[in-house]
Amino acid sequence: MTLFEQTLITMEHLLIQVNAPRWASRIREDLELWRSKGDASQHRVRYGGHSTYSDWVIHRQNGHDVSETQQAWIGRVFSQLQYLGQFLAEDPSDQRLERKHVNAIAGTRSVLGNAPAMEWSLETAERSCGEGVRTERCADCAYSETSRMEVETFMADDVVPGLLVSAIRRQDLIRLVDRVLAGRIKGVGDARRIVLEALRSENVDVTATWRPRDRCPACESSDMRVFRWDLAYGAGFQLLPWRYNHTAGWQETTG
Ligand SMILES: [Zn+2]
Repeated sequence: MTLFEQTLITMEHLLIQVNAPRWASRIREDLELWRSKGDASQHRVRYGGHSTYSDWVIHRQNGHDVSETQQAWIGRVFSQLQYLGQFLAEDPSDQRLERKHVNAIAGTRSVLGNAPAMEWSLETAERSCGEGVRTERCADCAYSETSRMEVETFMADDVVPGLLVSAIRRQDLIRLVDRVLAGRIKGVGDARRIVLEALRSENVDVTATWRPRDRCPACESSDMRVFRWDLAYGAGFQLLPWRYNHTAGWQETTG
């Protein structure tokens, strides 16, 4: 079975699990066309333009049956499957194309380690991941807060690409979806503790749910700014209020 077919089967399964039956049936149509006629063109064109697959986001507001934590994790799995489906539809039988895109996913930087083994040995102290943990920070008193959802999104962005590559190699994508939905990801509990601890040590409050802040809850200032914390590994995991730039090195982020 081609990776393209496995990707469509997994997308359909995921969409059924999160209660998105209409989206699931669109994917089923593409799958049947591929199986009966070897035709992937329908799947390919459905990524372009308005109200297409590119607009599909797993979200509670779309009526999907997921918790906030599941939304962060399965949402990341789904966007990765969209990426695979879109590119593999170019030529689903071309195994070089498969390898190219799997390698692209495998090349995604990870700080928290290479899940599912969650090995903590990292090659350099300079790697940083994704967009960092998004926080709101008061420009006047430096009060900072983020939400559990932001922490989960940060972790999922870091860990899911590695999980996906392992699952592709084991031809086990459906099981990955089930494990992610069940929250059964090896090492994630430890990773979560590390991230939360690092946030605590930098005096970043972690709220249960996200809410927009017009004013700083500590000093009432109206100058709240979005700020990102990168997790980096040096003498242990640290949060740094900087982003690593390969040409300029570490730079402060204020925007
Ligand atoms: Zn303040």
